[in-house]
Amino acid sequence: MQTSPLLVAERFDLAVIGAGVVGCAVARRFALAGARVVVLEKGRDILSGASKANSAILHTGFDAPPGSLELELVRAGRAEYLAIREELNLPLVETGAFVCAWDEAQAGALEEIEAQGRANGIEGLALRSAGEARAAMPSLSGRLRAALEVEGEHVVDPWSAPLAYLTQAVALGAVFLRGTELLAGRFDGAWHLETTAGTVRADALVNAAGLYGDVVDARLGFTPGFEIRPRKGQFVVLDKAASRHVRRIVLPVPTPVTKGIVICPTAFGNVLVGPTAEEQDDRERAAVDTPMLEALLARAREIVPALAAMPVTAVYAGLRPASDDKAYRIFARPQARAVTLGGIRSTGLSSALGLAGHALRLYQSFSAPLAPPALVPPALVPPVRVPNLAETRQRDWQRPDHGEIVCHCEMTTRREIETALDSPVPPGDFGGLRRRTRAGMGRCQGFYCNARLAQMTQGRLDPPLAVPEPKP
Ligand SMILES: Cc1cc2nc3c(=O)[nH]c(=O)nc-3n(C[C@H](O)[C@H](O)[C@H](O)COP(=O)(O)OP(=O)(O)OC[C@H]3O[C@@H](n4cnc5c(N)ncnc54)[C@H](O)[C@@H]3O)c2cc1C
Repeated sequence: MQTSPLLVAERFDLAVIGAGVVGCAVARRFALAGARVVVLEKGRDILSGASKANSAILHTGFDAPPGSLELELVRAGRAEYLAIREELNLPLVETGAFVCAWDEAQAGALEEIEAQGRANGIEGLALRSAGEARAAMPSLSGRLRAALEVEGEHVVDPWSAPLAYLTQAVALGAVFLRGTELLAGRFDGAWHLETTAGTVRADALVNAAGLYGDVVDARLGFTPGFEIRPRKGQFVVLDKAASRHVRRIVLPVPTPVTKGIVICPTAFGNVLVGPTAEEQDDRERAAVDTPMLEALLARAREIVPALAAMPVTAVYAGLRPASDDKAYRIFARPQARAVTLGGIRSTGLSSALGLAGHALRLYQSFSAPLAPPALVPPALVPPVRVPNLAETRQRDWQRPDHGEIVCHCEMTTRREIETALDSPVPPGDFGGLRRRTRAGMGRCQGFYCNARLAQMTQGRLDPPLAVPEPKP
């Protein structure tokens, strides 16, 4: 194994393992507290795991288990997102949600869900008759029996938020090591972390490895307190024309296993249908299959009949880092100055900032004589604002002097692509470029813009986009 002298020489206050939404939020929180942070990510870019493919709902926690840590952290994470979003330029689409009942049994369950939501401290809940709900969203099927309105459920851009968190950490001096897989760790008062890029030393660590949380705990020499059981969610993305029929998040009455199939506006102007909840052993591959996608579409058309006429733009699947228990699996090991944020299953986008605050509090509670060095918050926090990609706010193509439009489906400008490539956390692969700019994510899925993108990104992405041979 090659050892990088740079990595060996530096000793960090904190190593974060995994740059999903949770790891990025943890890096920011510790950097703001004054820690010198290093983030180890085995993928070529941030969000190489569960965080790249979710429904993008900023949950209120109305249906979270009462009294749970998950409820507390979802509420804290949501509150912090709302507090910092203007400063970081993060979008918020204030859709609200309807939990829809399609038969009498479900209609009865709505009262219990409302009571649970109130007990969970959630405001803005109201039981609606079918008529009231359909007056607010006329596209809902006439078969609707009743609905529970949840005013505070919102939609965000799931990729710009973690990017903003890590960018702020980097602005505060954090080091982001991509393509760096943690292989093993030894603690002797400090951590010696063996990675594919050399040895990294740190006084403390946070394991935020998502779908590999249990594997990483074992590699660090711990007996993992949980087992990851990946749960796949398939999605269908409908064309932007569908958005006029879906102004709110449409939720089913949840079951003990899943929040169920959601019809949801996206920040980018599309409509999302999904996710499924399918157990699988594979932690990497999230395959889509036609019968399941057709079933999703059929269900969506039952709920909002007008969607029958709407074309499909894309399909994809994500894997939730579910575990053998419904609860978040959080372990603090003060003697080893380590925190594991494991099993962050289906609410991690909403709770990430809450989890980060929780990890800092656990770190600060580590007992003497292994107390961590005192952290000194920076006097000046450098301003960080990520580019806006949400349709609900001004995009770059609507601003003066935008120049060339590279992706016409998503109206991505050359300036946006150059900004992403030159940013403090540039994309490492094509998926990362798409998530930072939306180039190639529209109706033609890159058919028209890929050649131009290949020219613009030469030598910048791994693997490179194929550049067409020049004509003789
Ligand atoms: C289908 C679906 C729908 C969802 N909908 C929502 C929603 O609407 N709202 C919401 O709040 N949440 C939602 N979620 C949940 C949310 O996406 C997850 O809770 C969250 O992404 C978990 O993030 P994480 O950082 O813990 O894990 P991950 O995103 O998996 O990040 C872990 C990172 O660690 C890296 N890693 C792993 N092993 C190593 C190693 N050995 N060395 C270095 N790096 C390593 C991985 O490459 C990865 O990038 C949804 C999830 C799915 C899949």
